[in-house]
Amino acid sequence: MDIFEMAKIPLNKAIKAMKLNEGAANIINNPERTLEVSIPVKMDNGKTKVFTGYRSQHSTILGPAKGGIRYHQNVSLDEVKTLAFWMTCKCAVAGLPYGGGKGGIIVDPSELSQRELEALTRGFIDKIALIIGEKRDIPAPDMNTNAQIMGWMMDEYSKITGQYEPGFITGKAICVGGSLGRTAATGRGVVVAALEALKIKKIAPQKATCAVQGFGNVGSWTAKLFYDEGVKVVALSDIKGNIYCPEGFNPYKVEEYAAKKGSVVGYPGSKPITNKKLLTLDVTILAPCAMELQITAANAASVKAKIISEGANGPTTPDADIILDKKGIMVIPDILANGGGVTVSYFEWIQNLYRNFWSEEKVIERQNALMRAAFKNVFAVTKKYKVDMRVAAYIVALGRLDEAMKIRGMY
Ligand code: GLU
Repeated sequence: MDIFEMAKIPLNKAIKAMKLNEGAANIINNPERTLEVSIPVKMDNGKTKVFTGYRSQHSTILGPAKGGIRYHQNVSLDEVKTLAFWMTCKCAVAGLPYGGGKGGIIVDPSELSQRELEALTRGFIDKIALIIGEKRDIPAPDMNTNAQIMGWMMDEYSKITGQYEPGFITGKAICVGGSLGRTAATGRGVVVAALEALKIKKIAPQKATCAVQGFGNVGSWTAKLFYDEGVKVVALSDIKGNIYCPEGFNPYKVEEYAAKKGSVVGYPGSKPITNKKLLTLDVTILAPCAMELQITAANAASVKAKIISEGANGPTTPDADIILDKKGIMVIPDILANGGGVTVSYFEWIQNLYRNFWSEEKVIERQNALMRAAFKNVFAVTKKYKVDMRVAAYIVALGRLDEAMKIRGMY
């Protein structure tokens, strides 16, 4: 089954549970627009290579499309369409005035020089410029893209339109209109959501343990902020391997080590473990913050965590969901748990539109308030419809989308 079809399984459960209008369901099941582009880049060796990129706008029902751009060798049209669909639902769950979009380029960025990376980035913006913009579609960072890449994109787009365009993209450096608190925002949301779940389960953070898969922007901030809350971080990982320490890590120290050595692997006092072991450790919270399709029918029965807070997009398959639900594990779905990033992207966009600056305290306070409200909303729906958190999150999202579709006369 392709990933878009898989992603629609919980959506269709929600459509059934809430008896959504058929026309509305058909609209949500199909992306509004997807663009495939070829990007020629003059490489350092003098040869010209052509890369393939995509931008998918799943929906603009609630506002301009919003979502990141990833650079990865496994990017595909199907994956980008799926990620755009998740963005629509994520923004709707959080109550943001955005639709959903996503972009990607098929490339392993570690194989490019900085000059090649910049040329590829600018070439991609040239090709998608026609469909993006502050009121149309607002990109952001995603896997393997960062504030530097956003800076090049902003510069290229400003050249094309002939005006200063900070509001067309988020996740920028502060000096070009970025927001304080944006870098940590996705990890912060994963932690805030998990803390809400701990409250429901009546477990004090100081009594909880966690395992975090992935040590990129999302995983490293998730681990650091769990540590700040007194949760014991017993396992960490990156693409090179997984490490375990029952006494608990200080993720700030692990980050310093990884910056020097290029990986968390080998951190003094840690024990190497397998990825399967990390996902099935006897911990209170498991935070998958790496890739899609990590918790599957093959390993779900062995998961021992009480709470899963999904930092990655799509880390759990629908088959695994059924198994986890039967085991009584509370899965805080990606479209709720990792919505902190796009929430602070929204704050960044507001600051850009008003040429305004918020303090970090204000950003954090507003993010926490929005995410706690979204969590409570979704949790209440689990009771009302007797569904798991994922289906409940889709019901919340679809409710907002449906209202707007109806009033806009779309069906
Ligand atoms: N790429 C992030 C996500 O998947 C952030 C998107 C954004 O800020 O627009 O949620």
